[in-house]
Amino acid sequence: MSKLIIAKFGGTSVADFDAMSRCADIVLADENIRVVVVSASSGVTNLLVDITKTTEVQERYAAYAGIEAITLNVLNRLASPQAVADPVALLLGELKALIENGGAVYSSAHKDLIQSFGERLSSVLFSQVLAEREASALCFDIRRVMRTDARFGKAEPQIQQIAELSEVHLAPLLADYRIVTQGFIGADDSEQTTTLGRGGSDYSAALLAEALNAATVQIWTDVVGIFTTDPRLTSDARCIREISFDEAAEMATFGAKVLHPATLLPAMRQNIAVFVGSSREPAAGGTWIAKEVKDRPPYRAIALRKSQTLITVKSPAMLHAAGFLTRVFDTLSRHQISVDLVTTSEISVALTLDQGGMTSAFSTNVEPALDELKSFCEVSVEQGLSLVAVIGNHLHSSKGIAGELFHALERINMRLICHGASKHNLCFLVQDNDGPAVVKQLHQSLFAA
Ligand code: ADP
Ligand code: ASP
Ligand code: MG
Repeated sequence: MSKLIIAKFGGTSVADFDAMSRCADIVLADENIRVVVVSASSGVTNLLVDITKTTEVQERYAAYAGIEAITLNVLNRLASPQAVADPVALLLGELKALIENGGAVYSSAHKDLIQSFGERLSSVLFSQVLAEREASALCFDIRRVMRTDARFGKAEPQIQQIAELSEVHLAPLLADYRIVTQGFIGADDSEQTTTLGRGGSDYSAALLAEALNAATVQIWTDVVGIFTTDPRLTSDARCIREISFDEAAEMATFGAKVLHPATLLPAMRQNIAVFVGSSREPAAGGTWIAKEVKDRPPYRAIALRKSQTLITVKSPAMLHAAGFLTRVFDTLSRHQISVDLVTTSEISVALTLDQGGMTSAFSTNVEPALDELKSFCEVSVEQGLSLVAVIGNHLHSSKGIAGELFHALERINMRLICHGASKHNLCFLVQDNDGPAVVKQLHQSLFAA
């Protein structure tokens, strides 16, 4: 049986030299950790995104200077900085050239290329931190195996090709080396750099675990596991020691940032155990995510996702008119807009757009889709809403769930409620401003000891 462990370290875990050293301790403590996936150092991807967003060269250079400072801070703390000075200088030079010659507006391919520098820099630096503690660390360019389609900004991994390429290029190295590689990035068939979407390093680690038949994926972050809600929202949040794949996947889907929403897909396909823990406090334990768990409580967690867009589509023709819903969803699908929540009445349908909605890369698709919808129905758009998801088990069939919820939130204006379609979640929308207080209040009612 495989004992292979893939360990992923997030942005705060590789924020600076001291943080990287703590991660090196974790890696060196377990011989089975043969692949280390790193995120960009905290703040670097945001600065790279800033570069791609502004047309002002001065602003681009200011962001570049921030990235250079974070990089050099680590480099200068190394025992042998000269060992990686050349690859680091090469990367920084390449990034600078993209700023100098980028033109006013970057193409989507260029945006992904620019965003890849964070992970490319942190992996070179972390491999040297590790090499200074143990000689067998090797920095590996994940674009050699992480094949994706060419949907820049949110590329789709090509599972079969990733498995084949990993078998050829990565698996033979594992016996002799600790591989340090980049999360978040990949490459399409023409070797153009792509990214998996923000927070995608968790997903990268799980994809590599699947490709290499690993036993475990470790997600090392800044919290000691998955909590009953984001610990930033309430000090009452409690760490969940063991949770099932489906519950954790629902949490990630509905906004628990601790895991990228797609992370558990590869793990579920191959039944790979996932561990979430804090790189600052590895001894504090963490959360195990597995297929079978002993305890399946009715209420497991509450997730919050801000900045949701609610679209209400109304047509008198819907009254007895077959095909109206088909037409609405066909329009959205042709514009590649996926929908989260849906409720219908006889003459209207209300739906929320998938994560990011109007503010994400999809925003360019949303306007044309709305124009098309307006050609056959009335459309209204509301923004500034938060999706609150109560995650648990048998929520669709347990007695008293709705009563408990309404009681807890009697003073809150709920904009839309979805209950009954899933046994694992019950979702509703509130105003963004109310979101954190609603989660706090609900958490107190549902999880009070
Ligand atoms: P990383 O950079 O390591 O990937 P992230 O910032 O992406 O870290 O994810 C960790 C953060 O996720 C935590 O700091 C926490 O605020 C947030 N979070 C949201 N929901 C939860 C939850 N249910 N349990 C734990 N953390 C959560
Ligand atoms: N560095 C990327 C981001 O900030 C990916 C990740 O951290 O998982 O979104
Ligand atoms: Mg993350």
